[in-house]
Amino acid sequence: MMHQNDVQEVREQVRRVLTKSLVPKIESSENTGVFCREVHKELGALGLAAPILPEAFGGADNPYYQLAVAEEMGYFNNGFGLSSLVSTCLFGGNVARHGTEIQKKKYLPDIVSGETMGCWALTEPMVGSDAVSVQSKAYRDGDTYTLNGVKTFITNAPISDVFLVIAREVNRTGEPLAQGIEGGTVFLLERNMPGLRTGLPFKKMGHRSSPTGEIFLENVKVHESQVLGKPGKAFYDMKHSLDVERVVFSGLATGMMQFCVDRTLKYTLERTQFGQPIANFQMIQDKLAQMVVLLETAREYLYLINDRMAKGEKINLEAAITKLVVAENTKRVTDMAVQCHGGYGYMAEYEVERCLRDAKLFEIGAGTSEILKLIIAKQAYKNFQTKK
Ligand SMILES: Cc1cc2nc3c(=O)[nH]c(=O)nc-3n(C[C@H](O)[C@H](O)[C@H](O)COP(=O)(O)OP(=O)(O)OC[C@H]3O[C@@H](n4cnc5c(N)ncnc54)[C@H](O)[C@@H]3O)c2cc1C
Repeated sequence: MMHQNDVQEVREQVRRVLTKSLVPKIESSENTGVFCREVHKELGALGLAAPILPEAFGGADNPYYQLAVAEEMGYFNNGFGLSSLVSTCLFGGNVARHGTEIQKKKYLPDIVSGETMGCWALTEPMVGSDAVSVQSKAYRDGDTYTLNGVKTFITNAPISDVFLVIAREVNRTGEPLAQGIEGGTVFLLERNMPGLRTGLPFKKMGHRSSPTGEIFLENVKVHESQVLGKPGKAFYDMKHSLDVERVVFSGLATGMMQFCVDRTLKYTLERTQFGQPIANFQMIQDKLAQMVVLLETAREYLYLINDRMAKGEKINLEAAITKLVVAENTKRVTDMAVQCHGGYGYMAEYEVERCLRDAKLFEIGAGTSEILKLIIAKQAYKNFQTKK
């Protein structure tokens, strides 16, 4: 069990860096869609970007620190946090879990320091929730694979130096070697590989400071040493990766809920109507109370599941519940924050409107709320039937 003081110290260090270096840049980063890479590097240089990654490569093997980092990032700017965590926890996390010693040595130190940015690419134009249906193809000839396909909605694709791409293994005529959960393989690709191209960042509703885009693979030749994990077993590994993602990234949303609560407390005490602070009105207090309850209950459950994840327990069901609860609570909290700010809340300057826009992604990314409910219901039936 992590010492609370250590986590608090990490939290405060991150907050200091973000307050000094990120806050002055948030508005332009949101408006231009340019990720604040130098701030990510600053955190990396201090060992604060990727504490979940192994100590041997510059991390701290510490999921408690990572969750505190995620919360602090989410407090100030979710888009920044999303891009930073995708690089460290999705790209880096998968390499740490499944990479060979050579792969870890080659990729992890620069991911930890923030020198390189990474992404994790599963989604395709025709394949989203039904993840095992990926159409990107990997044909193996001797020790070399040829990759073809398109990935879309990939966080960091436009700015990544290194890529994790999931493709299905096919034969010479392009027919899959296996169906369903079998036959997927993850490849470690680099930006300079001939045939790999990325598109321009998409314009989107929220998380605007986090570039999202496509990856095009046209006859990309990759040596077998660039396969991550066991060939053909990518979809098994993906389940665990999604569990980690659902927990760690929920920290971003929780940080954002805290921001909305703090801003609403401040605003409702300062804003006067009918000759008194609007904080005196019971309908404002009702919203504030609901916001606090939604934040605290989500955060307590998140910490509980993060603790179980840190201890190496299986948390497939719990990670789904965590993300579902956090997503729903975040949407309600951000909406009430805007409502309590009235017309000012609708203006960019007050920042809560950005939170409301950012909140929507938590119901979509890393498994939509509908898919999470399917996982939860399936597990509930299974538990019930095995009890009988
Ligand atoms: C900003 C952003 C960043 C992203 N970053 C990444 C990334 O880094 N890497 C990556 O691989 N992907 C990424 N994604 C993709 C994201 O994971 C997918 O958008 C998500 O999994 C949903 O897939 P989809 O968009 O194709 O929707 P679909 O799967 O087409 O779903 C459309 C709707 O149908 C519902 N639906 C689908 N199947 C069922 C079912 N069986 N039962 C009930 N309802 C169902 C869904 O819940 C949803 O409401 C990102 C997306 C966004 C918006």
